[in-house]
Amino acid sequence: MTFPAQLPIPNEVLKIATKLEDAGYETWCVGGAIRDNLLGLQNHDFALTTSAPPAEVQKIFKRTVPVGIEHGTVAVLDSANQPHEVTTFRKDIHTDGRHAVVEFGVSLMDDLARRDFTINAIAYHPIRHEWRDPFQGEQDVAKKLIRSVGDPNWRFQEDYLRILRALRFSARFEFRIHARTLEAAKANAQGLAQLSAERVRDEWFKGIKTAKKLSKLVTLWRDVGAARIWLPEVSGNEQRDTGHVDKMPRDPVLVTAILAGDAASLLIRLKCSNRDVERGRAVGAWRERYPDPKDRGAVRRWLAATGEFADDLLNVLPGLGVSRVVHSVSRLADVVKEIRTAHEPLSLKDLAVRGDDLIVAGVRPGPEVGETLQRLLDEVLEDPKRNTREYLLSRV
Ligand code: ATP
Ligand code: MG
Repeated sequence: MTFPAQLPIPNEVLKIATKLEDAGYETWCVGGAIRDNLLGLQNHDFALTTSAPPAEVQKIFKRTVPVGIEHGTVAVLDSANQPHEVTTFRKDIHTDGRHAVVEFGVSLMDDLARRDFTINAIAYHPIRHEWRDPFQGEQDVAKKLIRSVGDPNWRFQEDYLRILRALRFSARFEFRIHARTLEAAKANAQGLAQLSAERVRDEWFKGIKTAKKLSKLVTLWRDVGAARIWLPEVSGNEQRDTGHVDKMPRDPVLVTAILAGDAASLLIRLKCSNRDVERGRAVGAWRERYPDPKDRGAVRRWLAATGEFADDLLNVLPGLGVSRVVHSVSRLADVVKEIRTAHEPLSLKDLAVRGDDLIVAGVRPGPEVGETLQRLLDEVLEDPKRNTREYLLSRV
């Protein structure tokens, strides 16, 4: 075992821990921040776990927020109003694959035993600088291994989300998943169907944001069978080369849209907002129809037609690997920038005439007005110099 002598615990966290200890409650740092620091990654967001019951934590600190009180989690606000998570030692007494009924009044060992992976089940005492690592998490950090605490089959059946968490941590740290844990993840993948769409979405999106290589995350979701259940549009697209997605920004909606054949139905299944569904739909609709950057009129028409989705479409371009369509990705972005900087007209509201002007000029009120405006815009998209009152009225 090679634990560092001390971890850089922030003063505010230390103060909270000291106050709890002074009140007679054992208090330890746990979770992701411990793991990240052992990995040499900066993370000062140290969570605390304590023997103090939630009501006691709320009594000891003046300013708290009951962020997850049913699971024993209280956020203690420091002098700068920053929240620090304090969770009472707990153990799950009843689980159904999605929720847990928890019991307090247990030991640190019980609390560590209900955690998902060995690398997430290490405790550090911020005052005494002692370590508790009953499941050899530190060794697994060194060996770069994701391994369930206890029997992986049971642990996944208690909460199927842990399967997805394993994939996320594996892709984020480039850790292998221990053979028995991986086997159990595959064997229990069908249970993922019971999870709520929101939890799956959050996990998938977090995975997209944090994976070292996106293609690795996608491969894991496919291999374990998670994609088959929740992302069939991605799963059925094995032929599609996922290598390119690593080149685009880590916007989860856009990445999902690029990976899926039919992104809208997938984003609806994941209960994304209407706006995000529309973004996904736009990517699907336009992915094969980028303008040639050499044809500035075509780029303006494309900007007019894609409207608020144009930037998303520019962002996904590197993920498409369609050098055959757009010779240079950055070239299209440059041309778009030039058009915008020059304030070249792109929509009806940019036209030098409005509907009223057309009526005065003799257009019959009604649908003809809109049709005429659209025709004028088409002319102006071809050549922005045409956007003068005189020219446009002469064309009516
Ligand atoms: P991240 O960097 O993603 O926040 P994390 O390890 O801090 O990683 P959290 O979701 O913040 O993950 O959870 C904090 C800790 O709570 C974990 O380290 C783990 O010990 C425990 N935990 C979280 N979710 C589960 C779960 N579904 N089953 C068991 N333990 C869990
Ligand atoms: Mg965390």
